[in-house]
Amino acid sequence: METTDAFVGLDCVSCGDRFDADVATHRCPECGGILDPAYDYDSLELWRDELESRRFDSQWRYEELLPFTRSAAVSMDEGATPLVPCPDLADELGVGQVYLKDEGRNPTGTFKDRGQSVAVTAAVQHDASDVALASAGNAGQAAAAYAARADLDSHVFLPARAGFTNKAMVNVHGGDMTVVGGRISEAGAAYEDAMADEENAHWYSLQTFQTPYRHEGKKTMYYEIVEQLDWEVPDAVVYPTGGGVGLIGMYKAATEFRDLDLTDGIPGFYAAQAEGCAPIVTAFDDGRDEHEPWEHPDTICGGIEIPNPGASPWILEALRESDGGAVATSDSDILDAAITVAQNEGLEMGATCAAAASGAWELSQRGEFGEDDTIVLMNTGTGNKDDDVLRSHLMGKGI
Ligand SMILES: *Cc1c(COP(=O)(O)O)cnc(C)c1O
Ligand SMILES: [Zn+2]
Repeated sequence: METTDAFVGLDCVSCGDRFDADVATHRCPECGGILDPAYDYDSLELWRDELESRRFDSQWRYEELLPFTRSAAVSMDEGATPLVPCPDLADELGVGQVYLKDEGRNPTGTFKDRGQSVAVTAAVQHDASDVALASAGNAGQAAAAYAARADLDSHVFLPARAGFTNKAMVNVHGGDMTVVGGRISEAGAAYEDAMADEENAHWYSLQTFQTPYRHEGKKTMYYEIVEQLDWEVPDAVVYPTGGGVGLIGMYKAATEFRDLDLTDGIPGFYAAQAEGCAPIVTAFDDGRDEHEPWEHPDTICGGIEIPNPGASPWILEALRESDGGAVATSDSDILDAAITVAQNEGLEMGATCAAAASGAWELSQRGEFGEDDTIVLMNTGTGNKDDDVLRSHLMGKGI
């Protein structure tokens, strides 16, 4: 395998054992826990000026902190997205600075590209011919795109409620698509059935926290943010949270940069969810270490309608250890926030993503932020995937 020098294997977050990445491909062979790429950080010589001297062209500019070499990467130059100042929002929230990390500028329009780039690279390194996953929509579209680039066959299970763009583009990329009635849990069950079929024993899973590599790709969002802020650590990062892949990735990245002496400290990480599906917020507020499955998920924000986020202990650890928090707002407030940002800053936030903006408003009203704080909102996907939802909301207000 074409791995990087400091990458030493996969650590199980449950039992702590380390496995060779040649052998272990998905969950822990001993206990079934989530595997997390591990590095020999002491062997790394990474300085600020070295990183600054590199072109800001792709997430793979942080190659040393990724498992695979840039030359082996299945990449479309994902990442290297802008961090756009939002002065009107900063005034509105009563803080020093607000920035929007605009992940809508990725190849398939969301930050899912970062994770799928690394996960599909792993599939190629393991000589897979087929990749498979269930997804709310964006991860499936990204998987179909990266599989196409790597000449792999993709099998994508989507719930009927997935957005039109997602379904259309899985087709356009040549993916084998199964649309399942219901929501993400039903799509997940259909995927499990297909994976259990002997005929499909060769399918390589790209499922959230089955592959160890999706959070690993998403961690590069944080590296970019601090470099774009001239190595200042922001006070808060607000993230629209479903399965928490991006949040966990960024938390890992923040501890890595701190431990490598590239930054001082870590930001507060905040999970923003929709009131109609907020298992993480509820667990955080109740002081629990693990979520309870949300019984009747119901939100317009499909990307974060994840009723049973398996990595919740890790998400909750990230929120608490970083002195961050969790916040849930209503669909109506979330869509209002997307429209306010579009009308005042010009930036297009997806419906799901606007949970971060709406959550930040609520947090500022609770007095969570200081007047000089720097707040980063993660715009995890482009607004135009949800143009119909945003416009209907506007029209529903008689505008
Ligand atoms: C998948 C997705 C999320 C949630 O990501 P997790 O890592 O599962 O928490 C947020 N926003 C958008 C646009 C998404 O596609
Ligand atoms: Zn284990």
